Formats: sequence, C-alpha cells, structure tokens
Amino acid sequence: MESSASNQRMQELAATASVTAPDLGVDPTECVAPGPSDPCTIVILGATGDLTARKLIPALFHLYLNNGLPQAFQIVGCARTRMDDDEFRNKMKTALIDAAILDQDQWPAFSAALHYRPIDYEDLSSYSNLAETLKNLDISHNTPGNRIFYIALPPVLYKTVAQMIGRAGLSAEMTNGNGWSRIVVEKPFGINLDTAMDLDRSLHEHFSEHQIFRIDHYLAKETVQNVLMFRFANSLFEPIWNRRYVDQVSIMATETLGVEHRAGYYERSGVLRDMFQNHMMQLLALIAMEPPARFEADLVRDEKSKVFGALRPFPIADLQNYLVLGQYGAGVIDNQPAPAYREEPGVDPKSLTPTFAMMKVFLDNWRWQGVPFYMTSGKRVARKLTEITIRFKTVPHSLFRHILGQTIVANRLIIGIYPDEKITLTFQTKNPGARVCLRTVTMDFNYQQNYTGPVLDAYEKVLIDCMLGDQMLFWRQDAVERSWSFLTPILDRCEDCDDRTDLLEFYRAGSTGPAAISRLVSNTESA
Ligand code: NDP
Repeated sequence: MESSASNQRMQELAATASVTAPDLGVDPTECVAPGPSDPCTIVILGATGDLTARKLIPALFHLYLNNGLPQAFQIVGCARTRMDDDEFRNKMKTALIDAAILDQDQWPAFSAALHYRPIDYEDLSSYSNLAETLKNLDISHNTPGNRIFYIALPPVLYKTVAQMIGRAGLSAEMTNGNGWSRIVVEKPFGINLDTAMDLDRSLHEHFSEHQIFRIDHYLAKETVQNVLMFRFANSLFEPIWNRRYVDQVSIMATETLGVEHRAGYYERSGVLRDMFQNHMMQLLALIAMEPPARFEADLVRDEKSKVFGALRPFPIADLQNYLVLGQYGAGVIDNQPAPAYREEPGVDPKSLTPTFAMMKVFLDNWRWQGVPFYMTSGKRVARKLTEITIRFKTVPHSLFRHILGQTIVANRLIIGIYPDEKITLTFQTKNPGARVCLRTVTMDFNYQQNYTGPVLDAYEKVLIDCMLGDQMLFWRQDAVERSWSFLTPILDRCEDCDDRTDLLEFYRAGSTGPAAISRLVSNTESA
C-alpha cells in the first residue's frame, strides 16, 4: 500500500502538472543518471585544445557537482605542450570560469583529480610512460585499471594515436569485469567512405567494437533522445507516422555563427561533412526508423542503420532538383556587420566551400516511399534553429471550400530542439464570430515544463554513457559506412567538377539562405 506522504506527493504533482499522466510515479531527479559507474581514469589526448576547455572539463566538473562521476576517478590530460599538473589545473580552472560554472568550494577536491603528462603523439615511449603513470594512479587512487581514452585531437592523428595506445598495451582488457579500456573518437570519422573504412581498420587493430565509442553529441541532447520516447511510448502518433498520412518532413539545423576560429577544419570539411554526415543523418534516422524490439543499444542501432541503407541513391545527374549549396557573403546579424565567409581569417579568398546546404532525400521502404525529407543546415543565417517538422497531408476533401475558398492548412507536428525544447501540434479551429473562418492554433509542450531537476549537457550524457559502457548513442561502423556511401558520390560530384562554381549560390549573412531553396521546396515532384 502506498504511504500517505507519497499519495500526497502524487496529488501535488497532478495538481501542478497539466501535462503529466495520472500514473506519474517517478521523481524527476531520479532520472539524472542510471546508476553509479565503475571507478575509472579518463585520459584526454589533446588536453590543451578547444574541445577540452570548452566542453569536456566543464562537463566533467558539472557531473562532479551532481554526483555523476564514479566514487573514484582521475583525469589525465595529455598533449605536446610542456606543462606540469599545477599549470594544467590553472588552465582548466580558467576554462571553468569562462564557462561560468566554477564552484570555488568544490574546485579543490576536483582539481586534485586532474593530472597532466606531456606526450609526443608519434613516440611509443611516451605511451609506455603514460601506461606507467596510469598504473601508479590506479594504486594511489583505487581506480582498478578502467580507462577511457578520449581522442580530442585533430582527425589526422586519430589513427596514429589509437595504434600507439594499443601498442603500449593500453587497449588490452581484463576479463574479470574491471580493467576495461575504451576509446572515444570525435567526429569526423573520415572524410569519405574510403577514409572512414581505413580509420575503422586502424581502430580495430587494437580495439574491439565494444570498446570503440564514435561520438555524435547531438544524439545526447535531451530533446533528440525524446524523439524515440515520443514516437514509441505513445500510441497516438505511430499509426499515422507513414506515407499515408505524412506529406513531407523537414529537418533543420541552422546557426547565426560563422566559421569562427575553425577555418582550417571547415575549409576542408564544408557543411556536408560537418553537419550532414553525422547530426542530420542521425535526426533522419530517429524520425524514420522502425520501432526496435527492445530499447537496447544494438537493436536501436540496427534500426537506424537500416534507415541509411534505405536512402535512395542521390540523383547526381539531376542535382538542381535535389540539392542547394550556398556560401555566406557579407551581411548583418543582430544589427552587427558580418564578414563574408571568404573574408574570414584562414579562409581562401576564392573558397568554394559550402556553408549552407538543403537536400531532398527519399527512403525506399514501405513506410516512407514517396515522402520527401528536406534536410537543411547552414551558417550565418537569420536564426539559430534546430527543429524537425512533420507536415501531414491535407484533408482529402474540404467541405468548407465553397465558403472559405482556400486550401485548408495541413497539420504540423514540430519537434523543437533549439532554441525552444518543445513539441508543438498545429491544427485548425473555427475563429470566433458569425462568419465561418478558420484559424491555425497550436498545442504546445515545453520540455522543461514542470521539471525542476538538473539538466545534463550533451557532453555530460556522452561521458556518463562511456563510463557505463552504453553504446546506444554512439555511431556503429556499419551505419557510418552506409551514411558515407550515400554522401560520398554527392561530395565527389560537387567537389571534383568543372561547374563547381555554378553549384554554389551566395547568400547574404543574416538572410534565410540561398534563394534557390524555394526552387527545391516548390518542386513538389514526389517519386
Ligand atoms: P584543437 O585544434 O584545439 O586541437 C587539440 C590539440 O591537439 C591542440 O591543443 C594541440 O595540442 C594538438 N594539435 C593541434 N594541431 C596539431 C597538429 N597538427 N599536430 C599535433 N597536435 C596538434 O582541436 P579541438 O579541441 O577543437 O577538437 C578536437 C577534436 O574534436 C577534433 O577532431 C574536432 O573535429 C573534434 N570536435 C571539436 C569540437 C569543438 O567544439 N572544438 C566539436 C566537435 C568535435 P598540443 O600542441 O599541445 O599537442
């Protein structure tokens, strides 16, 4: 029998939470972490870099503040720069101040777990020294040989570093549950299909698949994860989540920022490799996948991989009806002048790198045959926005047409990821008054509604899952290869052709992107 205190708590929740179901039984704060993870040492290779300072250390510190780290943990930073432990700690303290999350009371205990070892990435003896350091730390700090090697280095070093870790004996695992070794690889996983396969071969020389964590931090965003819960924990939408009821799907991830300080990387990557190969494809998979039998890492990843396998080969000979590429010119963002991409520091003044792309793709399967998926991503546009819109078909027959003389606007389901974490359903109602007029109204759910517990940043979730060994949110190699198999012919066509200049349309910074996007959308051909 439930206690009266718990009954009272349930009644309070029901009274305040207009969106909660009557059977709500979980205290939200219990959902932060699935349970304690094994004591471990996190080795960050590339610890002097931007990712470490802006994302990894703030995420680890925030987890520490919320009891999200194991009882015993150590963090060892490695890079070429010569530094001692104290200098590294000071650098990381500055990073936490910059991230506005430094807690002076908690810092001393956290900083005691931070260490730094200079490393020459290509010298095996550096890794042997590192192995010795790790062994000593295990003894002094009760971390039983569990290690995460987080490769926060430029992609050109991934292969070398993975091999050196292996050759130094650091990828070997013990069989008694402890003594595990995991390697975390940041995007990009190669720059095309061949290089992705080559990188994978190198990783597998010393690591097994269960040890390899290919990160896509987008997947760890709460609202992105919620897509699966929304689809498969409600019976309302799944019956209409198919070609019979859905007219089109739009997946959009745009930003107001330009290339910032990452021109060296971006010039070689462009928007297709930077956003489409990973984040956009993952959003597509979450929207389009079939329900897995159980919510388990490999079953979920099987279904996602099938989506990439169902992508219709891109009509390379008819690019103009399926792809728009753009590059931002000078303009104004938030009332501030913004330079053209070609004027950014480190960018070739004649660069043909696309900073914007819109792509129309189809999935050749029973569920989605003929439904266009529009994927759009770009830099320096008017709004930073990440959202997925499912547009349903219009009513088959409008009995109001002779009165309204217009088409009835289709229902839309919008899954907002940024700036608003929300789900919105639009539908038609009657406008008050004697005349028959329709108006579009919305039903909104805000993700934060009635939630007061801590919110994990995407990198925090990713780190927790690495510590737990849960690969659900990480790319599996078969999916990486299917995704590259789709994109590589497009990249080849766009990058190695005489009409490269013609494929690129310039758009004003602060605008909605190239004018040609309307061409793609208004071309309503459905195959
Ligand atoms: P950085 O360019 O800041 O490089 C990280 C460290 O690598 C540097 O501090 C430097 O350390 C070392 N390094 C840099 N260039 C070289 C080189 N040519 N040869 C040897 N060592 C070098 O990278 P980030 O921290 O920005 O990114 C790390 C990885 O994470 C990259 O693969 C990136 O694609 C990925 N990533 C980054 C994101 C971010 O927001 N920064 C977001 C998503 C992914 P030292 O000289 O001391 O050895």
